[in-house]
Amino acid sequence: MNFSELIMNNEITVRLSFFFGIFAVMAIWEVVAPCRALTVSKIVRWTNNLGIVFLNSVVLRLLFPAAAVGVAAFAAEHGWGIFNYIQLPYLIAMLLSVIILDFIIYLQHVLVHAVPALWRLHRVHHADLDFDATTGARFHTLEIILSMLIKFATIIVLGPPVVAVVIFEILLNATAMFNHSNVRLPLTLDRILRRFVVTPDMHRVHHSVEDDEANSNFGFNLPWWDRLFGTYRTQPRGGHEGMIIGIHKYRNPKQVSWLPGMLALPFTGRITDYAINRRQWNADDRKKYDESKNDA
Ligand SMILES: [Zn+2]
Ligand SMILES: [Zn+2]
Repeated sequence: MNFSELIMNNEITVRLSFFFGIFAVMAIWEVVAPCRALTVSKIVRWTNNLGIVFLNSVVLRLLFPAAAVGVAAFAAEHGWGIFNYIQLPYLIAMLLSVIILDFIIYLQHVLVHAVPALWRLHRVHHADLDFDATTGARFHTLEIILSMLIKFATIIVLGPPVVAVVIFEILLNATAMFNHSNVRLPLTLDRILRRFVVTPDMHRVHHSVEDDEANSNFGFNLPWWDRLFGTYRTQPRGGHEGMIIGIHKYRNPKQVSWLPGMLALPFTGRITDYAINRRQWNADDRKKYDESKNDA
């Protein structure tokens, strides 16, 4: 049995150990040095946010038993994907794969904010009234399935080493819990860390109810994409304790904090002007439009 097979056979154990290990560290950290007071009790938050995580894991397991690692192994066996064509040194291929996969996640995150139908799904992540380690894993089941399909497509085209996919999955899981955690790092430490990894203060800006703040800091692992593509914002204008977390039109705990409400959330409400680049269309615009039609 080679290294890849060993990792593949124990993938679930490895990933679960990392998940619970990092979750425990972040949960203790949040108790010892919290950044903000929670608006919904921790017991309600945890039961429901972890409830959706559990549901998603079961659905993914049923739909895609081989998971992303299985697709990477399949691509390697059949010689599919760029890295199975061009032979790069193993470490370079690993590093590039992790960086490219992270870039795709960044693009996907911009996409789910820009396309109204996808924003409906992604709303579930943003509707959380608080911001803690469990927010990092709280996504609608349909968005999780979509993410998985995008990941499969990326792996088929890229042909990354199997181990790179395992590392990436663990990394994404770990950093998502870290950068959503309700902790506050000293400003200098935050500034240094931000050069390499998305910090809680950096990602908290993305969970603001203010539209322009929510449409910034899309990165999950590497903070470079936001700087490179002009979507970076240093701090929330209301300050980390004063800013409001969530979506302004969805603030009923029944709908945003309890599992049934969360699952139904994408299918409620009319399409709003929340998504990126949605143009305002008010009464004045209507008048101008009618007048221009009459002129023509
Ligand atoms: Zn988002
Ligand atoms: Zn987030």
